[in-house]
Amino acid sequence: MNLRRAALAAGFDLTPVSSFRDFERQLSIWNAKFSGERPLYDAEGRALDASQLSPGERVAAILRWSALPGASRHHWGTDLDLMDANAIPPGYRVQLNAAEFEAGGPFARLAEWLETHAVRFGFFRPFRGVLSGVQAEPWHYSFAPLAEPARRSLTPSVLQDALAAAPLLGKETVLGRLEELHSRYVAAIDWP
Ligand SMILES: [Zn+2]
Repeated sequence: MNLRRAALAAGFDLTPVSSFRDFERQLSIWNAKFSGERPLYDAEGRALDASQLSPGERVAAILRWSALPGASRHHWGTDLDLMDANAIPPGYRVQLNAAEFEAGGPFARLAEWLETHAVRFGFFRPFRGVLSGVQAEPWHYSFAPLAEPARRSLTPSVLQDALAAAPLLGKETVLGRLEELHSRYVAAIDWP
């Protein structure tokens, strides 16, 4: 029995919103946010004006909602953002925000079910907003048997080499803080 089949038996059509995402894709998201082409948000989800922010403030604002290229767990093929296709009307646009997964939201029942059952299938939530610098993401699940070796392989020097060679906006700021960013956003994860 796998996780999807167990979910189906419980009435959920477990569907990935996002799964594998490569370095280039994450780089283009990062650069669009850094340059202000894509909006930046504060912790409450209010839009910020990138042109009013220093490079360090932009980096902090991006990392609130997006991963540094090379540091996304979605690069590994082990992590998924999940929702229940049975819980939404046709044409509904999934946001992946806290309200959807809290009481009253369409995915509240799924979130509760996953909290109890995902671990039996090797899946866990790395982002609970506790140890990890990433905000709480109740939709993000990781397959531990493959994700843990990937996490251990992604040392600060591997990340440094990937970023040094990339056309990353804000590179100087990022490389100057790389040890700290690595420890907050890669090494620190929330086990159940
Ligand atoms: Zn995710």
